[in-house]
Amino acid sequence: MKKGETMKYNYHTHTARCHHAVGRDEEFVLAAIEAGYEEIGFSDHCAWPYTDFVSGMRMTEEEIEGYVNSVKALREKYKDKIKIKLGWECEYVEEYLPWLKEIIRKYDFDYVILGHHFSPSENSGVYSGCILTAQEIENYKNDVLKALESGVYSYVAHPDIYMKIYPHFDEHAEKAAREIIAKAIETKTPLEYNLLGLSNGKKDGREGYPYSAFWKLAGEMGATAIVGIDAHFPDAFFWDELRDEAFETLKKYGLKTVSTI
Ligand SMILES: [Zn+2]
Ligand SMILES: [Zn+2]
Repeated sequence: MKKGETMKYNYHTHTARCHHAVGRDEEFVLAAIEAGYEEIGFSDHCAWPYTDFVSGMRMTEEEIEGYVNSVKALREKYKDKIKIKLGWECEYVEEYLPWLKEIIRKYDFDYVILGHHFSPSENSGVYSGCILTAQEIENYKNDVLKALESGVYSYVAHPDIYMKIYPHFDEHAEKAAREIIAKAIETKTPLEYNLLGLSNGKKDGREGYPYSAFWKLAGEMGATAIVGIDAHFPDAFFWDELRDEAFETLKKYGLKTVSTI
């Protein structure tokens, strides 16, 4: 049996605490079991210790404990049916890195993934899926490189999110791709091929991310990929056709894949 294509794993799962995902925590687990997943990880949008800003897309610091307890309770309740890991999806925020490391230690998180949604910051930056200038690409890329060097993140979610509406894979876009891919290889960090993006691209009728030129280059340079659902609702665990398409594309571009973290 060829692991990764037949055995199913997913480490990119949200909960309703981020305000743009729907479903009870348990419904995500039940869907994953029904869809035949061996192991999943919850990686909801992390809290940040903001003092002057309230985010609309993440749990609050007060909700961390409830999130952790819910995931650990589900892990125990369904231990005979599926393995469940506790994770978070976090941006790279240099000043909060010590805080993040302390939270990881305190609550015994299994992993965090990098989902770098804003550069330079959530309240003063541009959303990475709305990047339109070379300078914004540069800012995104520099943060991703620093995140990779930090050793904190197990993989890079949607590394090519900066191509969501950026019009062409021009010299700026390609340079950023080369640097991100090279740093991922150097730090042995997988790059995520994101199924939510693939699904949205089909609905929108334009490529967005995953962006094929990025992945073609990643294959040529020798990067390692991981497929992530980025589940914001339980039924996303049934995206088997998208998942098969993702593995076919990665194979076509010559990427190595890993299925677990
Ligand atoms: Zn989200
Ligand atoms: Zn996500």
